[in-house]
Amino acid sequence: MSAPSVSARPSAVGLGMPQVPRVRRSREEVEEAAPVSGEKRVLLAAPRGYCAGVDRAVVAVEKALEHHGAPVYVRKEIVHNRHVVDTLTERGVVFVDELDEVPEGALTVFSAHGVSPAVVEEAAQRNLRTIDATCPLVTKVHREAVRFAKQDKRILLIGHDGHEEVEGTFGEAPEHTTVINDVAEARTVQVEDPDNLIWLSQTTLSVDETLEIVSVLRERFPHLQDPPSDDICYATSNRQAAIKSISPECDLVIIVGSANSSNSVRLKEVAAEYGASRAERVDFANQVDESWFEGVATVGLSSGASVPEVLVQEVLALLAEYGYGQVDEVVTAEEDIIFSLPKELRAELKRVGDESRSLGGRRRDAEA
Ligand code: SF4
Repeated sequence: MSAPSVSARPSAVGLGMPQVPRVRRSREEVEEAAPVSGEKRVLLAAPRGYCAGVDRAVVAVEKALEHHGAPVYVRKEIVHNRHVVDTLTERGVVFVDELDEVPEGALTVFSAHGVSPAVVEEAAQRNLRTIDATCPLVTKVHREAVRFAKQDKRILLIGHDGHEEVEGTFGEAPEHTTVINDVAEARTVQVEDPDNLIWLSQTTLSVDETLEIVSVLRERFPHLQDPPSDDICYATSNRQAAIKSISPECDLVIIVGSANSSNSVRLKEVAAEYGASRAERVDFANQVDESWFEGVATVGLSSGASVPEVLVQEVLALLAEYGYGQVDEVVTAEEDIIFSLPKELRAELKRVGDESRSLGGRRRDAEA
């Protein structure tokens, strides 16, 4: 029997997180506890990880640091990922909950989740220099809210109360908007003019649950209008489709992503709904519990839209230690979307001749 392994998140990745090693049971001990029938393997979902909006937001903060130096203030988490936030904090980013924590005149980035007009106004009053890293696909929903409010429609905004994205979209048209959190609220919401309704949604919801909510609303309000195009973004839909395709074959699905990442949490739920015997979410490989592997032949693996690939690779390395060395990537869609950097930053980069931002030159540039 081999010695138990000690696992900690490698220092090359983690900055600022406590490195708490813990003694793991060995592969042999886990297999002894519950033998595995069949070949061990990993089904690695693709697409997974960073979406274009997250990529843009993180690069925007990095460029701001590079060109303006620390500190750079960011309102709320730039994206909902523990590793990203900790790494940027180490590099001199100061994350704040509200703008009154930012010194007058300081450089401040708005997160990928977007802000309400009231926040933009407050920033102007405090003479903050701002970079708006709101994902263009969130901005699209904001514009829809403004447009439909101008038409005096009642907007039923499907999303999670308290999530920053919902707060921002709601703030575009508070007098015209009602937030619908779930099916139960869809069944009970009261509206004054049922013939003048349109629904919009948060970008990172479960596709299936949203359709169910819309179906309940439409049953009650047959004249409910659809948004001009899907609000749930391509990245959310693609990652859910990929996890749906592998989950029926999986004894265990592991989603890498943070607890406050809406799309990561949805992936875990979708995995369980679509047949995975067990679904778990972790921020880091060292949170994977080896008892999850007992009797498990097929492990599914994916990550939320705010998760750097290095964190997935760490989980793969851990899985290999436990005999899951065979990795089959299951690709259900190709993504080549890339968003231009926020305009405030583009102008600055152009002025100083910084052409280095091409998002690695990996993909075609698409104007936000
Ligand atoms: S998950 Fe979708 S809406 Fe959110 S940042 Fe990524 S692309 Fe934009």
